[in-house]
Amino acid sequence: AAELDVAAIKRDFPVLAERFRGRRLVYLDSAASAQHPLPVLRAQEHYYEHAHANVHRGVYALAERADQLYERARLTVGRFIGAPDPAREVVFTKNATEGLNLVAQAWGRRHLRPGDVVVVTELEHHANLVPWLMLAEERQLELRWLEIDEGFRLDLSRLTEVLRGARVLAISAMSNVLGTMPPVAELAEAAHRAGALVVVDGAQLVPHQPVDVGSLGADFLAFSGHKMCGPTGIGVLWGRAELLAATPPFLGGGGMIKDVRRDGFVPDDPPQRFEAGTPPIAEAVGLAAAIEYLQGIGLDRIAAHEHRLTAYALERLQQRFGRDLVIHGPREPEARGAVLSLAYRDVHPHDLAQVLDQAGVCVRAGHHCAKPLMRRLGVTATARASFYLYNDEDDVEALADALASAGSLFG
Ligand code: PMP
Repeated sequence: AAELDVAAIKRDFPVLAERFRGRRLVYLDSAASAQHPLPVLRAQEHYYEHAHANVHRGVYALAERADQLYERARLTVGRFIGAPDPAREVVFTKNATEGLNLVAQAWGRRHLRPGDVVVVTELEHHANLVPWLMLAEERQLELRWLEIDEGFRLDLSRLTEVLRGARVLAISAMSNVLGTMPPVAELAEAAHRAGALVVVDGAQLVPHQPVDVGSLGADFLAFSGHKMCGPTGIGVLWGRAELLAATPPFLGGGGMIKDVRRDGFVPDDPPQRFEAGTPPIAEAVGLAAAIEYLQGIGLDRIAAHEHRLTAYALERLQQRFGRDLVIHGPREPEARGAVLSLAYRDVHPHDLAQVLDQAGVCVRAGHHCAKPLMRRLGVTATARASFYLYNDEDDVEALADALASAGSLFG
């Protein structure tokens, strides 16, 4: 596939033209939240200017317009991830976190019993960990862990043992700290053989490469709009139709019932059952526009671009800083996503991020909501640079130059 025209792509993102202290913006924090191209901004503006009304309850033409756009967005999302039945299987949530909580709190609370086993991994973001810890406490579940090895990959040597008798495998398809991409399809097959459902945290994977829920082997898949050039305030939970049908409501309120009486209620069918209250309508429209934008460029080309850029960055940074710079994560660029967790000499990650900011370079410092993983790495925080379709070699050079100036500043 042809390489991306990153200069042209950068022009699609108005914020990338902002200047800070006279310097161009070098945005290396897309793993936290991506920026927005014009078509996404326009789609939301267009919705508010021409189509806004509440969905589901309106009989007038304007409300029908809003309804159509909202339901069309659901289909766009469903097709994007290869959902067999998009109209029934795509639930709009607030973010990936809410989707994962929905699985644990609604499906899990109904179907898991004391002593049941949930398998999680050391790579998990708190979003795919705390909901299971909460349920484990409430339901006396047993949590089992898949750990990482010296190469920052999941250690699968005890897989059969760990999965034995498990009901759930909750796994991130890409670590937001290390970039590790576990072999989810292979693990899903093993989990299914053991009788476990597979809950995939796709927050980092779905924005960056083609994903098909069937070939991934997922039973549930959660992700966020804002990490894929879409708006904040919207996420997606995809679930197999029969699983969603067997899941009770998560939140109660308007829009999720068939009937309500003084002594009870009848929940609606999925996905409406899980969308209590006024949903994020403009955000759904924006998310659909983001998907169309990414598809217009091609997810396979975006993935190839990120792999090339990550390989370049790994090599360039090692070459320039040698042992002064530790990059946590797999060495092989093809086995990892475009996330570089950095430790530079003994400079505290927060100090490092602040110095990089002086050069207009945006990186995130902290525990990245992955405290068990931080403990395993033996650090309290890292400085994380992450790439997306609008980053290029110049951005890597800007990062390297800023690191070098941090080096001289801290002596
Ligand atoms: N999982 C992973 C791997 C993430 O990186 C993030 C975002 N940092 C989340 C889940 C949660 O996403 P959100 O905050 O949008 O719910």
